[in-house]
Amino acid sequence: MEKSLIILGSTGSIGTQSLTVARQNGWRVTGLAAGSNVDLIEQQVREFKPLKVALFSEEAARDLKARIADTDTAVLSGISGVCEVAESEGDLVLNAIVGIAGLRPTVAALKAGKQFALANKETLVTGGSLVMGLAREKGIKILPVDSEHSAIFQSLQGAPENSLKKILLTASGGPFYSKTREELGSVTVEQALKHPNWSMGAKITIDSATLMNKGLEVIEAVHLFGVKADDIEVLVHRQSILHSAVELVDGAVIGQLGTPDMKVPIQYALTYPERANVAYERLSLADIGTLTFAKPDTETFKCLRVCIDAINRGGLVPAAANGANEEAVRLFLDRKISFLQIGDLVEAAAANQKAAHNYTIEDVFEADRAAREFVISHFGG
Ligand code: NAD
Ligand code: MG
Repeated sequence: MEKSLIILGSTGSIGTQSLTVARQNGWRVTGLAAGSNVDLIEQQVREFKPLKVALFSEEAARDLKARIADTDTAVLSGISGVCEVAESEGDLVLNAIVGIAGLRPTVAALKAGKQFALANKETLVTGGSLVMGLAREKGIKILPVDSEHSAIFQSLQGAPENSLKKILLTASGGPFYSKTREELGSVTVEQALKHPNWSMGAKITIDSATLMNKGLEVIEAVHLFGVKADDIEVLVHRQSILHSAVELVDGAVIGQLGTPDMKVPIQYALTYPERANVAYERLSLADIGTLTFAKPDTETFKCLRVCIDAINRGGLVPAAANGANEEAVRLFLDRKISFLQIGDLVEAAAANQKAAHNYTIEDVFEADRAAREFVISHFGG
């Protein structure tokens, strides 16, 4: 495969693993973008020699420009710079930015007609129908990087149209599985940052602990696979070996299994519909021994329930739930609110949002802003 890649969010957990996959496969990288990590992106520029690089932070971009003045890479800055990288020379854009900050770059890449791989689930949670509409109009298939959605996508290869009955979306349950609300009252940031199976960025790790991540993933799946939330069953599967499955109309259940390693779904999104002859750690089911499945506790972990309600109400409600969560997670990481307050604030902010079904991208940013403001004015700090 001769494909050139543009990696957005290149300094993060998914971004760096994407560059590992690119290195393993010998692919060219023509564009890089990230928030503010100058040291790491400088190294990445020196190794991959992209045509363009952007940092969202203006100050960090100025620093980078001075540091790489000896290279041929052009340095851009701000959201416009990140979007310009998304539209620049290169075949496939992988969006691994965290949060709603990834939405405008997604739109830019799709408008430019790029092949498009998506890790940034907040893109679909906040701008889902707009983004899916744009992809359809441009004839672009959005290639999922999120492990569960990749598993669903892989399981559907070869399934006839209209044969999908139901999605089985697996969840590790996070570090606090089986804890009561009372026990969750006193958990710390350090405990919440310790995920049992995956090593990921801080925001998604907290989202995994609250089950907000699974809620965001239900919404992501509704948009990617054109199903209703009612057609998605969330299953707690502690081992993270079955990455998700589909039930077809004839009752057959097809799933994708593997060790928990994001390089596998990343690589599949980048080689689809081909398979790379590059494997990472291989799965030994005999060593794993037992796979378990259980229903999630959506009373204690209310974020999952709030997200399902949000997508059922539709319109701007998921954007509000997401914006409230981004702000609440920030406050939790800054030790300004407790773990349980995250769910309470997300629930209240989502309830405060009108659905409004015909919305524009500016309405999405307004709902996001209002939800963040709601959280700031209600957290009691
Ligand atoms: P991370 O925090 O490790 O990395 C985020 C990246 O986004 C960094 O490069 C950061 O510099 C960049 N960024 C942040 N704000 C930006 C802005 N305004 N403009 C440009 N770049 C910006 O996060 P992550 O864990 O790699 O997750 C990235 C996305 O992938 C998230 O949406 C997450 O939900 C999703 N995801 C991650 C994993 C995982 O294993 N880490 C798995 C599935 C899905
Ligand atoms: Mg996932």
